[in-house]
Amino acid sequence: MSEIDLIKLRKELHHNPELSGQESETAKKIIKELKKCKPDKLLTQIGGSGIAAKFSSGTDSPGSILFRAELDAIAVREETDLKYSSKNRGVMHGCGHDGHMTILLGVAKKLSEQKPVNKDVWLLFQPAEETGEGAQWMLDDEKFDVVQPDMAYALHNLPGYPENQIVVKSGVFAAASTGVQVKFKGKSSHAAYPEQGMNPARQISELVQFADAEFGSFKSKSSINKIVTTYINLGERAFGINPGEGEVGFTIRSSSDEELDIAVKKLREKVQLLQEQFNGEISFDLVEPFAATVNDSKGVENVITAAEKCGLSINQLDKPFPWSEDFGAFGEKFPITLFGLGSGEAHPPLHSEMYDFNDKLIKTGGEMFLELID
Ligand SMILES: [Zn+2]
Ligand SMILES: [Zn+2]
Repeated sequence: MSEIDLIKLRKELHHNPELSGQESETAKKIIKELKKCKPDKLLTQIGGSGIAAKFSSGTDSPGSILFRAELDAIAVREETDLKYSSKNRGVMHGCGHDGHMTILLGVAKKLSEQKPVNKDVWLLFQPAEETGEGAQWMLDDEKFDVVQPDMAYALHNLPGYPENQIVVKSGVFAAASTGVQVKFKGKSSHAAYPEQGMNPARQISELVQFADAEFGSFKSKSSINKIVTTYINLGERAFGINPGEGEVGFTIRSSSDEELDIAVKKLREKVQLLQEQFNGEISFDLVEPFAATVNDSKGVENVITAAEKCGLSINQLDKPFPWSEDFGAFGEKFPITLFGLGSGEAHPPLHSEMYDFNDKLIKTGGEMFLELID
């Protein structure tokens, strides 16, 4: 596949985005392209739409290395007006996963022309990255048991950084995070008789203020430790009703899984206290939890060496990113290293309506991965 073919393929993927957990058509397309490259092993439907292709080296006891891309798109309505813009209204490849998949297909093509020398190479396409579920789905699927690389790499394109710059960091690269959904079920009544109802307004406001105030110490532990009230729902725009149901959401993020757990525990304890004064029911649920992405130090060294060999500029961060990446979940099974690839300083941000993957990164990303195999 020439670079032009790859760009064409990338645009096709962009035109046909699918949400997390619904990536069946995308997976079909990837499988079709992979088959043309004749991998030595092709595992499909791992934890949903997940795919793993293995390209074996000729050697007897080879090491093995893995590269990961993501299959899913996001729930944003694209406004780029590009010819190949999303045909699925309200769904778009706004995170560049179309580009990440294409980079791996380019690597597959190269490996089909020339076997890897002393390492087996796994190319992994995971579902549901955006919701923080897909990595665990794959890990839980026994088909995935045979996938045991010595090191796994992934890259993410990064708008706001110079084009083709490699962005790395040892240790925590991306934060742990979780959504928290707290639902209050009381009883509604006529606003003239509030004593007949159970309105959770006071408990909701107390919880929001608790999150804001009590988490001062949590925030001071690390600049990326954050808690945000993401939504509050209570009643309708009506003046004769005393509402009986409400809901509030938070997102908590931290540079460490342990600190995140402590913060969640504190919030849960506060909810238990509120339950004592509220006659209705309160439920407490975690939504879209992500583990921290903790980079292997040897992996980071390898990325730096590869970047130097490719003649790319290198940016070594001193602080982790406050966003989360589902790639971190694979860290429980094998060492992982995630690095950034700059999309250009003026490039529209990830998850925005005007975003589109920068096709120049297809070549650079592919070269980086091939260099890492060597
Ligand atoms: Zn994303
Ligand atoms: Zn992404």
